[in-house]
Amino acid sequence: QTIVRLDGVHKEYGDATALDGVSLEIQAGEAVAVMGPSGCGKSTLLNMVAGLDRPTSGTVQVHGQDLGRLNETGLALFRRRHIGVVFQFFNLIDDLPALDNVALAAQLTGTPARQARRRALELLDELGIADRKDTYPAALSGGERQRVAVARALMNRPALLLADEPTGALDSRSGEQVMDLLIDLNQIGQTLLIVTHDPHLATRCASRLIEFADGRVARQSALEPTA
Ligand code: ADP
Ligand code: ADP
Repeated sequence: QTIVRLDGVHKEYGDATALDGVSLEIQAGEAVAVMGPSGCGKSTLLNMVAGLDRPTSGTVQVHGQDLGRLNETGLALFRRRHIGVVFQFFNLIDDLPALDNVALAAQLTGTPARQARRRALELLDELGIADRKDTYPAALSGGERQRVAVARALMNRPALLLADEPTGALDSRSGEQVMDLLIDLNQIGQTLLIVTHDPHLATRCASRLIEFADGRVARQSALEPTA
């Protein structure tokens, strides 16, 4: 089953070409890392796949849906239901405790509050931070914040989990914990797309590497699983 499919995707910002004809596919269960120098189009790619921005030309399909056929409301709904995103700087809501940060993701798709909170607690438990459920983001460590952010991204059982430099703001020990978490998720079938500068993150967590250069796919290679 194909989870992500890009066909001839171009993205221009004024005179600047961010993506210059990108075609690629990601199958269910894969863990794919995208690497490349600064300015090569990685964030733009992530924004296209996340439905946060639209291509100038070409098509983006996620979980069988052509994102170009959705209007803004449809796109926002699709995103919430089927795509989880984890960012470098967590993007948690400061004035909500961990549990509510996670539960909100399901409430926004119409899940009743009690049910959302129950699932949120289960996820925090699975991610080893149930004891931090009532803690506000400011009082969490970086690693705990990112685990809360991962729990939030998983709330709606997304077909695709996107991660943008998920360990970029963490010390090495917390970073390793988040990598272990991503590996565990992939082993239970979660499809992952990770954008990173960090070769260690890519080689630890991904089974395929896509290297970008100048807005294009320059190279693809299979990665050996590491312990
Ligand atoms: P990366 O994430 O690999 O650093 P980006 O996707 O951020 O690369 O950027 C790719 C190219 O597109 C760069 O030349 C960048 O300057 C340009 N770019 C990205 N976003 C915008 C924007 N919103 N407006 C103008 N240019 C942009
Ligand atoms: P749209 O206006 O396109 O429907 P929103 O502005 O409602 O989208 O949401 C943009 C993003 O912010 C979504 O990913 C959504 O999950 C998140 N979001 C929206 N409202 C809230 C909120 N009150 N608290 C936290 N996140 C929210």
